[in-house]
Amino acid sequence: MAQPLTVTPGNPIHLADFDPEYTGNYADKDSARQELEKNLDRLQELQEVLWAEGKHSLLIVLQAMDAGGKDGTIKHVFRGVNPQGCQVTSFKVPTEEERDHDFLWRVHKAVPRRGTIGIFNRSHYEDVLVVRVENLAPEAVWSRRYEQINNFEKLLAETGTTIVKFYLHMSKDEQKKQFEERLQDPHKVWKFSMGDLEKRELWDSYMQAYEDAINRCSTPWASWTIVPANHKWYRNLVVSQTLVQALEKLDMRYPEPPPGVDEIVIP
Ligand code: AMP
Ligand code: MG
Repeated sequence: MAQPLTVTPGNPIHLADFDPEYTGNYADKDSARQELEKNLDRLQELQEVLWAEGKHSLLIVLQAMDAGGKDGTIKHVFRGVNPQGCQVTSFKVPTEEERDHDFLWRVHKAVPRRGTIGIFNRSHYEDVLVVRVENLAPEAVWSRRYEQINNFEKLLAETGTTIVKFYLHMSKDEQKKQFEERLQDPHKVWKFSMGDLEKRELWDSYMQAYEDAINRCSTPWASWTIVPANHKWYRNLVVSQTLVQALEKLDMRYPEPPPGVDEIVIP
């Protein structure tokens, strides 16, 4: 079984080769805790310099099947991040106004401004996932979108946005467990919708659509990372680690102090 992986262009993957149960060298949550805390501290430091320097932005795309852990990832991985420099956008069924524009219109409006982090809870990828699997648009329309997405992401990357895309890879069995938990917990049952069951029936078609999106839209400027997601603690570890690495590559610096600042005496 393959390990968590950042997909490289020209090396197509098969999702079935990835074990959603994988937890690397960690036996359990406790053994990974220290590493996770270290990553979260580092993420906090990196966000501060991202903001201070004001040159780059970070766009995080989160995609998964229902109950796959998008909300949980946001809640846990970003708990140390300053809300002033971070914006979450959850993409739902497009509104009438959104449908009257190209599919990237609502997405482009939500990309993070310089110095900030933008988190997409679902994204423009829905337009080659749910739209494809549930025939919401003809193939002639959605099949052109892979290239349109790549071009769009290239524009963002060339203008200062670092793009990190995560597919949270959960097994069908684990989804059943998560749904059952939701149904039994009065504080979670609101999250369940009947539509989730229809999507579950289409599981294999969704896997095919995910595989194609990952393979066709892993580019030198915006790659996908496949995250084993059956164990939430390992998922959080992989996501936090990947983000720290992406931000460290930017080699960001605090701005130089203005000239004469060392002579200033506050009266
Ligand atoms: P949730 O994430 O549970 O709040 O559900 C949001 C719903 O919106 C999901 O069922 C998505 O598949 C759906 N959705 C998001 N984007 C699109 C889109 N571009 N076209 C159709 N449905 C979408
Ligand atoms: Mg839902």
